[in-house]
Amino acid sequence: MWQLLHPHLWVSSVGRIDASDLRRRGIRGLILDVDNTLVPWGETEMAPATRSWLEGMRAAGFRICLVSNNRRRRAESLAEAVGFPVISGAVKPLRQAFVRAMRLLGTRPQETAVVGDQIFTDILGGNLAGAYTVLVSPLSRREFFTTRLNRQAEKLVLWHLRRRGRGPDVNLTTEGTVDDA
Ligand SMILES: [Mg+2]
Repeated sequence: MWQLLHPHLWVSSVGRIDASDLRRRGIRGLILDVDNTLVPWGETEMAPATRSWLEGMRAAGFRICLVSNNRRRRAESLAEAVGFPVISGAVKPLRQAFVRAMRLLGTRPQETAVVGDQIFTDILGGNLAGAYTVLVSPLSRREFFTTRLNRQAEKLVLWHLRRRGRGPDVNLTTEGTVDDA
């Protein structure tokens, strides 16, 4: 059970995700969460650093799809602005949206990374879908009430990970890549 809640990689922000590290793992497609992963909750603009990371991943040849549980138009206009497909109103952690996203990307689960800031939606869902999962620290403290409830349970999982010597970016090696030990 714990394993399904554990990300394969834990980073402080998407900018720490290294293209060559992903490629070495055979990953070709990225499924990215929107709220608090790419954009601070309630904001409409992506930070320049996030945007240039995204552009870098696209230039490196990764297929990219945004998947958000948020129904609002915001995720869609954001995706349009950056030119990636988006699936909004997803019901993460249920598999359906991840399967749809992988169909769009043309990737198999083992060739796909799921990146997000929440254990019980992004990480659990990505692990259930058989993908490589990357937890990022949330960009903002603000979020939905339901998310705040999840965060309480999440604390327990993060505590468990830290106790095993894991933490954001702690496994970074000198080359800036990450071991999955
Ligand atoms: Mg999120």
